[in-house]
Amino acid sequence: SEGQWEVDPAELTLGEEVGSGQFGLVLQGQWRERRVAVKMVREGAMSEEDFKEEARVMTMLSHCKLVQLYGVCTQHSPMCLVFELMEQGCLSDYLRARRGSMSQDSLLGMCLDVSEGMAYLESNNFIHRDLAARNCLVSCNNVVKVSDFGMTRFVLDDQYTSSQGSKFPIKWSSPEVIKYCKFSSKSDVWSFGVFMWEVYTEGRLPYDNRSNLEVVEALNAGLRLLKPRQAPEAVHLLMEWCWKEKPDDRPSFALLLHELALLSDL
Ligand code: ADP
Repeated sequence: SEGQWEVDPAELTLGEEVGSGQFGLVLQGQWRERRVAVKMVREGAMSEEDFKEEARVMTMLSHCKLVQLYGVCTQHSPMCLVFELMEQGCLSDYLRARRGSMSQDSLLGMCLDVSEGMAYLESNNFIHRDLAARNCLVSCNNVVKVSDFGMTRFVLDDQYTSSQGSKFPIKWSSPEVIKYCKFSSKSDVWSFGVFMWEVYTEGRLPYDNRSNLEVVEALNAGLRLLKPRQAPEAVHLLMEWCWKEKPDDRPSFALLLHELALLSDL
């Protein structure tokens, strides 16, 4: 059965490559007068039937701080996913390219943008599962939007999906995710704390030079990432709040959004 989320290949024009990821190549393109990014899913990279079920839900999630999924072209095999085009690429590269040149206002603005997108997901009971600067994208007018929400559920690669796997994002994961794979909006909040750390270090890798095992041991001993030099005290306090051991002790995204908005008015 075809739905609103089915993209007709006749309406889709493919252009240059803009990147590649876990699912395969990402091309620039055009769909119904709109510039789009098209993920060409590699054979065997995605659990396509499960994704098709979820695509209906995901195309209905719509917010100015989320990278919109317009639809899916299932007539192609393997299928391709059609997203809003984000001209300036992923936030981690953007941060590294602009080291030393970003204002406090723009760093805080990035955190505010992402907290807005995440508060929307939280209010829809939708868990991201892989929030990090590499999964946020930047628009032509420097707006940061949340991308790839929920997508790890459809990855067919044990190295990526098992918490024991070499590609599992341990350094962004809360203790309950590492131990029991217990994902929730509060585990997204933990990742958001690491995301803020990435923003204020201008794209450094968290716990660089440390193995996953060393990170897990440090966290168990109660250690946390240190305050980035550029981070105001108030922002560091928010990070530490996100990294409370117990999920219930962490703030919601609604509250984080509120707190960040207060700071940006100062
Ligand atoms: P995957 O989900 O397959 O792992 P990613 O989402 O990491 O793929 O995308 C890989 C790269 O493609 C990104 O780092 C970015 O450079 C580019 N890209 C992905 N989505 C978009 C988009 N909507 N607009 C512009 N570029 C994008």
